[in-house]
Amino acid sequence: MFIMENEVINSPIEKLPNTSPLTIRRLKFLEIKTYFDLLNYFPFRYEDYSLISSINRIQPAETVTIKGKITEAKFQISKRGLRIQNFKIADETGMMQLIFYNQPYLMRLLKKGLSISVAGEVKLFGQKMVMEPKIYEIANRDHLIHTGRLVPVYPEIRGLSSRTIREKIFYLLYHFDYDRIQSCLEEFLPSKITIYNNLIDELSAYQNIHFPKSKELAQKARERLAFDELFLIQLSSQLVKKEWKKEKVGNRFTAGSGHDRYLQDFVENLPFKLTRAQKRVWGEIRSDILKTTPMNRFLQGEVGSGKTVVAALACYLTYLNGYQSLLMAPTQILAQQHYHTITNLFKKSEIINPKITLITSSQKISSFQFPTSKPASSFQHLVSSFDIIIGTHALIAKKRSFEKVGLVIVDEQHRFGVAQRAALKNQGINPHLLTMTATPIPRTIALTLYGELDLSLIDEMPVGRLPVKTFFVSKSKRHACYQWIKSQLSSFKSQVFIVCPLIDESQSETMKSVKAAKKEFQTLKKIFSEFRLGLLHGQLKSKDKEQIMIDFKNHLFDILVTTPVVEVGVDIENATIMIIEGAERFGLAQLHQLRGRVGRGKKQSYCFLFTESEELKNRQRLDFFVKNQDGQRLAEKDLEIRGPGNIYGTKQHGYLNLKIASLTDFQLINKTRSAVDYFLSHYKTDQCKLLNQRIKNYQVNTVANN
Ligand code: ADP
Ligand code: MG
Repeated sequence: MFIMENEVINSPIEKLPNTSPLTIRRLKFLEIKTYFDLLNYFPFRYEDYSLISSINRIQPAETVTIKGKITEAKFQISKRGLRIQNFKIADETGMMQLIFYNQPYLMRLLKKGLSISVAGEVKLFGQKMVMEPKIYEIANRDHLIHTGRLVPVYPEIRGLSSRTIREKIFYLLYHFDYDRIQSCLEEFLPSKITIYNNLIDELSAYQNIHFPKSKELAQKARERLAFDELFLIQLSSQLVKKEWKKEKVGNRFTAGSGHDRYLQDFVENLPFKLTRAQKRVWGEIRSDILKTTPMNRFLQGEVGSGKTVVAALACYLTYLNGYQSLLMAPTQILAQQHYHTITNLFKKSEIINPKITLITSSQKISSFQFPTSKPASSFQHLVSSFDIIIGTHALIAKKRSFEKVGLVIVDEQHRFGVAQRAALKNQGINPHLLTMTATPIPRTIALTLYGELDLSLIDEMPVGRLPVKTFFVSKSKRHACYQWIKSQLSSFKSQVFIVCPLIDESQSETMKSVKAAKKEFQTLKKIFSEFRLGLLHGQLKSKDKEQIMIDFKNHLFDILVTTPVVEVGVDIENATIMIIEGAERFGLAQLHQLRGRVGRGKKQSYCFLFTESEELKNRQRLDFFVKNQDGQRLAEKDLEIRGPGNIYGTKQHGYLNLKIASLTDFQLINKTRSAVDYFLSHYKTDQCKLLNQRIKNYQVNTVANN
């Protein structure tokens, strides 16, 4: 029975009645794929049109809703050419004038005799009270949707207005197959939990977040849905963790004294000393991979903090146990870089060395001239003869034989675990899994979002790193700064990144941003006419993007003008200068990620923040950035100032976008965490069918979005 009912709410959005294909397309653009997604598209504020007044009672400056019959409709053009739609409406108590501007289509819609409801502010024109309505609707239904209530306002996109979204949601909640929708929104939490946490029931929460009966209820609805969101995230992680704990590794590891000697030899032969943080994290990983339960660890560490060495140690122990390691990076260029770094690390330990290979799917990209790079000829050949296999995530996309794989390391793809590990398991292996990232994520957030993972943090940089000298450059100093850069380019053959600003608030790169970058590129070409410039943006094919990075690395040009897509993690040692245009538009953590593109070599590096904004708030924020080099701190500050939605800027960083809960709401995080603990110790998920369905929904969305 319940399965049928849940199917309604999970119906594809295409099935929504009375909705044009164009609207469907736009809804899908907002990632609304099902009815349930639509119900989870929440308003960000409400217009208060709840005061309904009769015409004789209205007061100037009051925001009201008035219902009446149209008694007159007139189209006028003012002396200055303004097109005015003039109406008169009447109720039992009086008559009033409505004035609309530049909406000629209203003349067709609002005919004499029609009952309408309008809302807006009452104004005094001379002695006369009139209204320039903010919104109108035809009032021949029992419900008012856009007037006469607290009216929800939704984030809109071009071609899809808040009004349309409101209508669709109203329809779903109150008209469409009412009983079946309602039964889908039945309470899914045990009453012990809802009562203890003072939560309103699920159905009222959905009704009141969209069409609140009062401001208090809107607030209660928000609290309830935020609770749901954090509860489901954490419960689902805990369930994954529980399942994981039941697993057994396919290939069991040991670490005898023989192994330890080799590991020690490896460490002693490194060209540097491991930092304390590296040693600690290696200890955590080592103890994990000696267990029979597969490791599922998330390693955070800033760019340059030395994650690769730790990964190499894990690969080495894997090799000493007679197994293979797979190391996967999001792009070919990063895979090549890993290959380069790891090969170098193993160069010195002469006693016993793993064989390392790089698999690149497209050999068309000219690679850097790494002397040791010997691409493998065929995969089968490689399976038998290599110990550390490095490539992109495509490595495990194809069906291949992985019986000897004991360790999988994934770089910069958070939440890689669930889906890809299932793929590996389908191929018969259950390896240890290490996920690495340079994205600074505050600890509370990491614990909430990645609860199924064990966390490790390299919170210390190797000694002797030169911090990137960072400066705030006001408008008047821009020219001088360009001159200084030119002299650096000529005297030291340095290379420069110029990052163009985000044009749209939108998370992904839009055409508008690309256009702006292209224009900036033309301007800069004139300013730096004696140098070679390249342009990188998100609308290029990924192969072309990589080629540009490679060309820049090979110093085929001096200046790379780029949108913020510029690859995380690619080391261009000779690039020592970065300009960030429109710096005020970036979050601190994102600025830090960008700044991490320079300072990769031994030379002193510089980062210049250009801004047109004179606002003190921005200035203070950027000053904090100028003075701080610690990514974790910057991320925390960001969280404090801008809220979590803005921390990482782009989705590709794997950051989960919460719909309604705030990750800065530590009280709610704690509350939901206790609720999850309580739930796990008192209930069985299998017995809570609706809850189970919610978890599945949640997991499907998470996997799909990552
Ligand atoms: P990331 O954490 O960004 O992956 P890498 O592992 O690539 O950083 O390390 C960056 C550089 O720092 C490499 O050239 C590496 O050899 C070097 N390195 C790593 N650990 C140390 C250390 N403890 N002392 C000095 N240099 C180190
Ligand atoms: Mg790295």
